[in-house]
This record gives sequence, structure tokens and C-alpha cells, in this order.
Amino acid sequence: MPPAPRSAPAAAGRWSSIASTCDPVGSARSFYSHDRNSVAGGIVDELAVNGGAPVRTVPLPSVFNATGRRFGDDEVKAAERVLRSGMLSSTWGAEVRALEQEFATLIGAEYAVGCSSGTAALHLAVAAVDPEPGDEIITTPISDMGTIFPILMQNAVPVFADVNPLTGNLDPAAVAAAITPRTKAVLAVHLFGKPAPIRELRALCDEHGLRLIEDCAQAYLAPVGDRYAGRVGDIGCFSLQQTKHISAGDGGLVITDDPALARRMRLFADKGWPRDTNERTYLFLALNYRMTELVGAVTRAQLTRLAGVVADRRTGAARLTAGLGELPGVRTPLDGGDHVYWMYPLVLDPDVAGDIHQWGAALTAEGVAANPGYLTGPLYAAPAIREHRTYGRSEFPLQGVAYPPGLCPVAEELIDRRLLVLNWNENYSSADVDDIVTAIRKVHSAFAQET
Ligand SMILES: *Cc1c(COP(=O)(O)O)cnc(C)c1O
Repeated sequence: MPPAPRSAPAAAGRWSSIASTCDPVGSARSFYSHDRNSVAGGIVDELAVNGGAPVRTVPLPSVFNATGRRFGDDEVKAAERVLRSGMLSSTWGAEVRALEQEFATLIGAEYAVGCSSGTAALHLAVAAVDPEPGDEIITTPISDMGTIFPILMQNAVPVFADVNPLTGNLDPAAVAAAITPRTKAVLAVHLFGKPAPIRELRALCDEHGLRLIEDCAQAYLAPVGDRYAGRVGDIGCFSLQQTKHISAGDGGLVITDDPALARRMRLFADKGWPRDTNERTYLFLALNYRMTELVGAVTRAQLTRLAGVVADRRTGAARLTAGLGELPGVRTPLDGGDHVYWMYPLVLDPDVAGDIHQWGAALTAEGVAANPGYLTGPLYAAPAIREHRTYGRSEFPLQGVAYPPGLCPVAEELIDRRLLVLNWNENYSSADVDDIVTAIRKVHSAFAQET
């Protein structure tokens, strides 16, 4: 078989494997001497996306199956205990009440309330803050939509402030500039597991008489000074969805030290029904967001694993960060000992490292799934928000509110050109992490500008 032309990537990939078996390495080296797809030492290393051999053929541990989840005998026993008891509802059962106690103790909060999802947890928080219709809540354009929709469901207006270019977390100066007489609260997200500058935001909120809500769905046990993320704001919100640090499929938890907020959240998860006073009445408009006993019992077992999950994610991430070293145009996550790595975000300088979409495709082909940009656009670009698709044709409460492109330029630049997010997992072995290092170095050597 003759050497394939360089314009036929798949054939070139076949050539590289043939060259290594049939030809002296030197001949392959000279054939590719002008090729960017080579690594130090000149050994041919064709990208898998161009038909070369992938770094990984065995899938990495994944949160979408048992390889990347820690569900063991304790979770099985928990589910069985609930089923055999015959009581699956937390209204009368003891599992969710026990989970609330255990979670509050673990995080160091006075109160915890279980609910049906992370989105529900955020809805409990916004409802407890009780904005007037049209009040504003300042938040981030880079998150899950579960951060934003609860604001609109309570008829408040999400106001998007721009983010830090290295972490994607809210920039306190941008938040300060977004405060108006209608501002009711700030809703901060600890993106990918890196704490937002929550103490600065707390000071800002105190100065302006605002509530502070923390979305900790990606940041279990993330230290902020002497406490955990979720305990600096008035309310912290957590998710038990399939892909989070701990899971029961779906579920949510809120924490607070304020008894009035705690009671309002418990009522909001239960149709406003004050079961604690034994009255069958409905004190305010609310839905049913109750957690089930099955979810509560499984989550209790998951709680005992949480510290280990976080520690193992941090150990693996430290190995990756060390293994990558200083790659031109590639920034590893800022970590002051406080990152809990729901994901492992890289920030690329596209002029040096290359295009994030090419990187995403190339790394994924190497067997290391990578998500360029994390989102397809800032949350305000979604039709529900930009086109005011809310209640009927009313556009309420967004009539006259514009969310134009360029609203948060740093967030847009991160999503469009700089963020490259790697799945992260507590079950990655050292060898798994070393493969990720190899894949990233291989893709870097193909796409980065020579320096
Ligand atoms: C997952 C997530 C949510 C929503 O949680 P669900 O349990 O999926 O409803 C909200 N905010 C952030 C930051 C998340 O990662």
C-alpha cells in the first residue's frame, strides 16, 4: 500500500500504523517531518479524529453507569428497608427526616429540607426569599437552567451579571454594577465545584440589604474559609441528580440557619400545608416538591461516601494538573485547596492552543470526552428567556426586558471560545488520569501554535 496523501486523514492514520510495523521508524518520521501531528521525539502520533489510534479504547468510568457511581450494599439495603417497611412517603416515614438531620450536621447548618430535585431546591429558596412580582434576582449566565427558571416561576426577573474569565464564577464587581432598587437577592453558583467569591458577595448583599442564595449543586463540601459552600449565603441548594457528587437519581436539599426560611421552604415543598401545627389549611401558593423515602434512604447511604468522593476527585484532579504542567495556551483550574471538581474545566487561549470545538472532537475521539464551552450559549440566549416564553403570550415578567448578545461578554467568550470541560469522576484510577494527560498532550501538540 503506497503512502496515502495527507488530505485523506483516515488513510493517513492507516499509514502510520503500517509504517510502525513494516517500515523503519525513521522513514515514518521523515514522511511526517512537516506534520504537526507528532510528539516530542518525532514518533508519529496521528490524532484518532484523523484515523490514528486512540489513547483510550476502554471507556473511562462514567456517571451514566455503575463504573462511575458508588452505589453499594448500603444503598441496596436502604432501598430494601424502605420497600419492606411499606412506607414510601416522607410525610409519614422517618428516612427523609433523618437525612435532613444528617445532612445539616455534615454541612454544619441548623436546618436542612429535602425535596425532589436541585431545581426544586432552588425554587424553595427563591420562594422563601419571596420576591414581589418584577423584583430582580442577580445571577450568572453559566450554569444549569435549574438555577434560573425558579426565579421566573416566582415572577421575578433574572438579571445576568458577568463572570470571572478564569473560573466562570460571578464577578462581584459586575454584580455590584447590576444592583438596582428592584434587586431582591443574588443567586451565586459554584461552577464546576470551584467556590464563587461568596464572601465578597455576602458583604455586597449585606451592604444593600439583599438575600444571598448559593447554588451548590456542583460543589458539595467545597471549603470557604472555615465553613462549607452553602453556609455563607442565607440558603444553600444541592442536587442529587444522576451526575452530581452523590445521587439518588433525582432529589434536592436546601440548608439554612434561619428558622423562618427553613419553615417557609418546608411549607413550599408541601403545598403550603402546615402539618407541624396539625391544621389542614394552605398558608400560601405552593406545590408538592416532597422527597420520597426511597430517595431519602439511598441518599443517607450516599452521604457516608461523600467525603471520600470529594477526596478522590481532588486526588485525581491534582494528578492531572501536575501531569499537564505548563502547556502553552492551556490553563488548568484555579485551586486553592477548595475545588471539589464536579467537572475539570480547562480554559484555552484559542490564539495559542487552538479551537475548542476541534479540541472537543479530537479529545473525544481519543476516548476522553470533552465538552467545548459547557453550554451552547449563555443561559439568557435560550428561547424561554431571550424570547420571553413564559406564561401564555404575556411575556410576564419579562415584558420590555432585553437579553441581547454581548450582555455578558466574558461569559460568551468562555462559552464560545475558551472553555473545554472534561468529565470528572471519583473512580478514575491513576492510569486513567495518565491516559487523560496523554490525550491532552497529544491534542495540544497537534493544534497548538509553535512557540
Ligand atoms: C444540576 C444542577 C441544577 C439542577 O439540579 P437538578 O437536580 O437537575 O434539578 C442546578 N444548578 C446547577 C449548578 C446544577 O449543576
